[in-house]
Amino acid sequence: MPQKKRESIIVFGSHSDDFVIGAGGAIANYAQDGKKVTSIVFSHGEKSHPWLKEKVVQDMRSKEALEASDLLGCKTDIYDLGEMKFLEHYQERGLEKELLKKINKEKPTKIFTHSIEDPHPDHKAVYQITLDLYEKLDFKPELYVYSVWNPVSFKTNWPSLYVNITKTFSLKLKALKSFRSQKVHVAYPFLLLLFRAIKNGFKIRTLFAEKFFRIK
Ligand SMILES: [Zn+2]
Repeated sequence: MPQKKRESIIVFGSHSDDFVIGAGGAIANYAQDGKKVTSIVFSHGEKSHPWLKEKVVQDMRSKEALEASDLLGCKTDIYDLGEMKFLEHYQERGLEKELLKKINKEKPTKIFTHSIEDPHPDHKAVYQITLDLYEKLDFKPELYVYSVWNPVSFKTNWPSLYVNITKTFSLKLKALKSFRSQKVHVAYPFLLLLFRAIKNGFKIRTLFAEKFFRIK
């Protein structure tokens, strides 16, 4: 009897900590449920430490991202697109082909990415990259967006997905602490995360939740 393939989920993020901020609790939940979660990080964010050699920063960042991934129970692939040059480098390096191959092989049931409402240019770029990839996939998984810098509530007709992260919220915070060198989102407001988690939790009558919009 062939073994049933583990359900797979992919989370895209611009910088090394985005997947944790946006979906860390859900990732840990899915992993604990036995699903295979892969996060794809597009940039180390090397500009944050201009006085250090790029290579040193990349190694540091990779180490931090892998530490966070271990805590959440996911696997992380890191690419090295230059900050604010995502689309340019993405094209130059022919990353589309590689990612299409990876996603088509992985056949995730869900893909998570940045929101179009996020004002950060690198986040917008990854949103665009995800949508372009989505159109070219051999199959159509559910596509969700998460929040990093966009306002907590905006008007939309997209259906929401609430994930109860009551049992994984502390893990998410612990994973965020792995990014000791992170300046891109230096000290991402802890209170904002907490406020968001409680507000979303209230909606589904749990202590903490993460909210996503399904856009496809
Ligand atoms: Zn980011």
